[in-house]
Amino acid sequence: MTDKEYIKQLRVPTPENPLRILMSACLTGVLCGYDGTANGEYPSALKLLQYPTVSIVKFCPEDYSFGSPREMCDIHGGTGMDVLEGKAKVLTESGKDWTDGMIRASEKMLEIARKEAVEIAVLMDISAACGSQVIYDGNRFAENKIYQIGAGVCAAQLMRNGIKVISQRDYASLELLYAKVDANHEIDTTRTDHHEIAWYKSYFNITVQE
Ligand code: SF4
Repeated sequence: MTDKEYIKQLRVPTPENPLRILMSACLTGVLCGYDGTANGEYPSALKLLQYPTVSIVKFCPEDYSFGSPREMCDIHGGTGMDVLEGKAKVLTESGKDWTDGMIRASEKMLEIARKEAVEIAVLMDISAACGSQVIYDGNRFAENKIYQIGAGVCAAQLMRNGIKVISQRDYASLELLYAKVDANHEIDTTRTDHHEIAWYKSYFNITVQE
């Protein structure tokens, strides 16, 4: 089921029984980014905090395992799913191996998601932990940084356990989510998800079937 199909079939929440959404803590304004900031503001995600029909569960997996501030880390040799399968590593910019800590963080995130019975996750794209559509392939500070299609370790852990993950850049899916939690929201049909934008198609050499 696509992200959009999944969101459309979600139940209609009420203030008494709100939709339970797991969010990257930094997207909610928590200062848990690698540099002790919230990684900037993303109105598309912050909007979700305003609805009485939404209950937000915040978690920062990297803060859980490594504290804040901390080094930046990226996945080397594959995607987050590959890390979980023992085929790739998480290394910091100075070369420390954070693979085990990141896997522990992903397990904690899954534990929280299950305990809170979250119905969807909205996570920060590009992150080696929370990325859901695009992540770096190796060190993001390399002269020729490379992107790859794939999820970070914690998003991959949620996905492989059946939890739907979208990012703050999946604007079309978010439009459907806003409409799900707010009967008065008019869906902006011009919005697109991250995998539908021109940069994504061009960078990953994706040709569109007409
Ligand atoms: S690990 Fe996730 S929640 Fe924490 S700062 Fe990075 S993107 Fe945000």
